[in-house]
Amino acid sequence: LGIATPAALMVGVGKGAEAGILIRGAEYLERAEKLSVVVFDKTGTITKGEPEVTAVVPADGSQAAEAEILLAAAIAEKGSEHPLAEAIIKRAAMTGLDIPAADSFEAIPGQGVRVGHQGEDILIGNRRLMQAKGFALAQQETVISGLEEKGNTVMLVAKGTTLLGFIAVADTLKENAAEVINGLKNIGVEVVMLTGDNERTAQAIGASIGIGRIVANVLPGDKAKVIKELQDQGKVVAMVGDGINDAPALAQADIGIAIGSGSDVAKETGGIILVRDNLMDVVKSLQLSRATMRKIKQNLFWAFFYNSVGIPIAAFGLLNPIVAAAAMALSSLSVVGNSALLKRVKV
Ligand code: ADP
Ligand code: MG
Repeated sequence: LGIATPAALMVGVGKGAEAGILIRGAEYLERAEKLSVVVFDKTGTITKGEPEVTAVVPADGSQAAEAEILLAAAIAEKGSEHPLAEAIIKRAAMTGLDIPAADSFEAIPGQGVRVGHQGEDILIGNRRLMQAKGFALAQQETVISGLEEKGNTVMLVAKGTTLLGFIAVADTLKENAAEVINGLKNIGVEVVMLTGDNERTAQAIGASIGIGRIVANVLPGDKAKVIKELQDQGKVVAMVGDGINDAPALAQADIGIAIGSGSDVAKETGGIILVRDNLMDVVKSLQLSRATMRKIKQNLFWAFFYNSVGIPIAAFGLLNPIVAAAAMALSSLSVVGNSALLKRVKV
């Protein structure tokens, strides 16, 4: 009876490690069995996190040429480590632009960047950022939403008090994203996408892979709150993420699943780490957990069974102590043997 649980857990955790699924503690296997919702971060988790510039568009009423918009954006993003910034720097370099250094730099998490350059502020970021800085956007909405409906993330670029234009950036989906989502639905868990990106872009990407429930416009500090809300509804929640901004949510979730190629902070916080950077391992880790829990239950059943048959017989003095000792050893062997069968489960 005493080894029924640990024997199965050891085989389950070992089996995971072989498949590149590092499980930090047995409690995650147990929780995975009760899981009801899996929440995915978008950028870097569902998408590759290597966005590319797809369009540079002047704002309505702006005289700025494409090159001018791109240059302003590049000056601002030079000091940023955001994947969106990389896309802009890459495009600017491809266009052969020389990017001067800014005089001051301020990253505004979940919104964008502000830099000082030649006595003027250059801003790049989302609607929230521009609205906070007092830009009127109503007139620009058609162009912005048009780009977003195609799955682009649109960044607004302003210099001084002028809105210069927009830079649209799109990220490619990971190859098997749709298959993974489908696999999760098949084992009966709900799927949610959580992102700091805007609603329209997120909906377009979600729809293309079968995620209907989207929580968009979430500031980095609020991701954990969204997880907490789901938990308050009585759900057992897993969070899959890669970024520094996902770490609090990974910690809050019942199971934090960190992508191996992600940031170190995410990996330190996750309860399960997917070394191979393959989203399909999310499904596999759940299958493995369920198989392990089934083994534990079988083991407990058989261990109880032997004892509840053996003890009464022994109590009536009908069991030779030698036979009893052999039965004891046999029951342990059967539990260990049954656990070892877990190795045959395909993950
Ligand atoms: P996610 O949750 O998808 O990883 P973030 O929370 O990092 O996204 O960012 C949310 C949004 O804030 C982005 O979609 C973008 O519009 C804006 N943003 C953040 N950082 C930058 C930046 N360096 N340059 C431009 N826009 C940015
Ligand atoms: Mg991310």
